Amino acid sequence: MSEELICITCPLGCHLSVDRQSDGGLAVTGNRCPRGVKYANEELLAPRRVVSATAAVEGGAACSGNPGGLCAVSRLPVRSSAAYPKQGVPELLEAIYALRVSLPVSRGDVLIKDFKGSGVDVIATRTLKKA
Ligand code: SF4
Repeated sequence: MSEELICITCPLGCHLSVDRQSDGGLAVTGNRCPRGVKYANEELLAPRRVVSATAAVEGGAACSGNPGGLCAVSRLPVRSSAAYPKQGVPELLEAIYALRVSLPVSRGDVLIKDFKGSGVDVIATRTLKKA
């Protein structure tokens, strides 16, 4: 029985049918370009996800770095610098939730470097200064 996927690599959103072969490979149909085959292989054999979350701010309160921005921000939005293996996402989230970020912090600052040797960092997605 085929597995059905929608390729999200581009806005065309091709509907893919994928059959597992006896040699472990995948036979993909419905793709309009080779990237659909690559997407199906990654999604079914080694899925990865970009992880977005928030991390606690040391001391609990901060202001946005933007003039006139919000104050009393207690959590900093963060994300992985690249897609991370899906099965490891809970462990990555645990590490993010254990963080206590010292301020000030700038968007793009690396908060966790090369998590578990994956080459994936956790970075700040917002600039925050002390309240
Ligand atoms: S298979 Fe190619 S054309 Fe279709 S959605 Fe994926 S990238 Fe786009």
